[in-house]
Amino acid sequence: MRLSDYAQLAEDFLFPKRCVFCGKVIRLSEDVCADCAQSAERVTKPVCAFCGLPKTHCDCSKTRHFYDGIAAPFVYNDTVRRGVLLYKNGMNKRAVSYIAREMALCYRQNCPFAAELIACVPLTVREKRRRGFDQNREIAAALAAYLQIPLYEGLCKIYDTPAQKSRGRLYKRGNVAGVFDVIDPEEVRGKRILLTDDVKTSGSTLDECAKMLKLYDAEAVFALSFAIAGQKKPPKEKSKSEPDTAK
Ligand SMILES: [Zn+2]
Ligand SMILES: [Zn+2]
Repeated sequence: MRLSDYAQLAEDFLFPKRCVFCGKVIRLSEDVCADCAQSAERVTKPVCAFCGLPKTHCDCSKTRHFYDGIAAPFVYNDTVRRGVLLYKNGMNKRAVSYIAREMALCYRQNCPFAAELIACVPLTVREKRRRGFDQNREIAAALAAYLQIPLYEGLCKIYDTPAQKSRGRLYKRGNVAGVFDVIDPEEVRGKRILLTDDVKTSGSTLDECAKMLKLYDAEAVFALSFAIAGQKKPPKEKSKSEPDTAK
């Protein structure tokens, strides 16, 4: 056994591997416990390529989207929401490799172009300081490493925004209008960009970021998140309130 193997064993003992969605200790060969493997709902086709919702829920005719398409591997149901919150609160940072792997697979299956850059929905400097952990950036960096696509960090957020949960779509669109900018427009000009966020709810944040990238002549922007809200829930999971990470 090599020294690095002993170090790994010690790390596994001190920091055991936990289920991405519920945090329960699992085997090293697993990512998700058996219960969560059942209850974490995957996005199933057919879905609208522009809002990521099933055709029965789609209202794209009323809303203009700046991104060229959107996809996510998971529906934002109770199980997935719990996993996202665990990760977002820094309580299961190892989950990033699973999240990035699932998103990479989803990108390969759904994005109509080969992305040249990966950008993520950014935080302001103050938001970063307050939270201490920028989960979107961590996911985008892991995804960039996995897909071997450069991470673009020039998309920035210039104003803090109040939490958007439980607000209507119009409020959400207004809340994020004009809060993002691109540091060096030359870097995005003519580029095909994969834009990521951990969860897509109304899509207004992703759309505003896509708008800025298009404004600076990005050729195409495909939005990708780990989970997408708003799909039909299975009967047992009805009557839950708005997600905490709504944006
Ligand atoms: Zn679990
Ligand atoms: Zn749609």
